[in-house]
Amino acid sequence: MVGVHQPLQHQAGQQGERATASPALDRRGRQEQEEAVRAAFAGHGWEAPRLLEAMSRADDFYFSSSCQVHLDRWSTGRVALVGDAGYCAAPTSGMGTSQALIGAWTLVRALASAGGDPTAAFGAYEAELRPYVAENQANGRQAAATFGGAADLADPPTR
Ligand SMILES: Cc1cc2nc3c(=O)[nH]c(=O)nc-3n(C[C@H](O)[C@H](O)[C@H](O)COP(=O)(O)OP(=O)(O)OC[C@H]3O[C@@H](n4cnc5c(N)ncnc54)[C@H](O)[C@@H]3O)c2cc1C
Repeated sequence: MVGVHQPLQHQAGQQGERATASPALDRRGRQEQEEAVRAAFAGHGWEAPRLLEAMSRADDFYFSSSCQVHLDRWSTGRVALVGDAGYCAAPTSGMGTSQALIGAWTLVRALASAGGDPTAAFGAYEAELRPYVAENQANGRQAAATFGGAADLADPPTR
């Protein structure tokens, strides 16, 4: 797997990861995405030429920017968000699955304690989980920076 991080003009990290102008690139076709990856790795030695050549033949090509989701609130009315939809911390945090599972468990506990009042439950859920998510997102941004990525992964801002 080859990771691609933004912005495109950054130099390659030693891990072989690169930057893109994503997430705009996420919505473009495979050809354009491949071209961006080829341009990012042009002139690189080691395994880069072999990987670029294999990319064109891959039947499981996957391209996605590494982004975070920042929302002012995680619920409205009787609807609440859990996991990446509400507070994605980016793969660089390594905590997305934990957040989704702990988020679901926290929400269930809040609903059980709120006596059937979803508004109270959603408030308690968010108040309890926000600090944990903020820490994970900060770590996700810090880790992205070590790959040559941007410190602000929420692009465009989702607040
Ligand atoms: C490359 C990569 C590496 C990662 N590495 C790690 C890691 O090492 N450790 C870690 O903890 N996390 C990692 N993550 C993050 C982790 O995968 C996510 O944070 C986690 O899966 C989020 O869970 P979720 O349930 O919130 O969302 P998802 O797992 O995305 O589940 C959402 C589900 O909703 C479905 N869906 C979407 N729209 C609709 C619709 N309209 N109707 C019905 N269904 C719909 C989707 O198909 C999907 O099945 C990584 C992610 C990526 C992309």
